[in-house]
Amino acid sequence: MSSPDALRIPSELLPRDGRFGSGPSKVRDAQIAALVADAPTYLGTSHRQATVRNKVAEVREGLRALFNLPEGYEVLLGNGGTTCFWDAATFHLIERKSQHLSFGEFSSKFAQAATEAPHLDKPEVITSEVGTHPYATASDDVDLYALTHNETSTGVMMPIERPTGATGLVAVDATSAAGGLMVDPTQFDVYYFAPQKSFASDGGLWLAVCSPAAIERIETMAASSRWTPAFFDLKIALDNSRLNQTYNTPALATIHLLASQITWMNENGGLEFAAGRSSRSAEILYSWAEASPFATPFVANPAQRSHVVGTIDFADDVDASVIAKVLRANGVVDTDPYRKLGRNQLRIAMFPSVDSEDVAALCASINWIVGNL
Ligand SMILES: *Cc1c(COP(=O)(O)O)cnc(C)c1O
Repeated sequence: MSSPDALRIPSELLPRDGRFGSGPSKVRDAQIAALVADAPTYLGTSHRQATVRNKVAEVREGLRALFNLPEGYEVLLGNGGTTCFWDAATFHLIERKSQHLSFGEFSSKFAQAATEAPHLDKPEVITSEVGTHPYATASDDVDLYALTHNETSTGVMMPIERPTGATGLVAVDATSAAGGLMVDPTQFDVYYFAPQKSFASDGGLWLAVCSPAAIERIETMAASSRWTPAFFDLKIALDNSRLNQTYNTPALATIHLLASQITWMNENGGLEFAAGRSSRSAEILYSWAEASPFATPFVANPAQRSHVVGTIDFADDVDASVIAKVLRANGVVDTDPYRKLGRNQLRIAMFPSVDSEDVAALCASINWIVGNL
């Protein structure tokens, strides 16, 4: 038996690009080249002037095209990433009471933020076993339904649909789903995300696609007596976004990389193109695991298996953490499972930037490792 550290995967088996992390995720070379080309006139310039504001406009218009947004929908953005947006939502999107589908680390965090907010009623929290998703049900006193399009910690995706009979807003955490899964904008009021996953940029920014009903809620809540810190004030974010700005200074490189990725998606066929790349990769990964004597898709229901973040369980006599270690020593990084899930598992991101052939090469590399351990 060879020592794991000494194993050298044959180079003809290795993926060409070794980045399979679920965020920050693979950034394409062309995005870096575009940033370098623009750097002398873009980086290090004021975010209140046309050069940067035009880039923000490109992002907002690009997302409008990518999601084929109906009339009246608007793209808001601000600093702080998705985690910050959850707190903002407790001030300016939830009026009194929310309902949360909680089925993993990320979806549970927004539920926790709403539970702890002293100005809100205790939310309804619907849970399901890990590796599955629960279903929302309309409640008379719920004014916001919190869904998660893709639970990144477990690799479970769910279709985005308004709960039958619901009158409240539907707010979707799409941090890892946006750009990699298909979605119908008439089924949500808020579709929020951060750019370090399918959009192949860096973290620290939040973006929220808002329906007219969501905009109205923000305006109503901002006019109410609820005290709100300026950083979490979505009316301030709305007013700044309409001017293609953020309330405080954003990371300019992040915006540029994000704009390049949106343009790449739109120029190649839009969301169907981008989601198609992820679904092709997912087909390769799950077919391999189903046929493998030592690997199994963690999510039992094929319809709930994520196209953007795949979770693969390993047989007891194969230590997934050793596979992840060997992969890392060979330049194939971040296949480790979500730490708190505590399973003998690998987690593999298949965002649109990841080439499907590289997912196939990753599967071949894992076969080789298991055969040579
Ligand atoms: C990554 C992720 C988050 C956290 O995003 P941050 O920008 O780091 O706050 C939240 N929700 C989901 C579904 C995620 O995948």
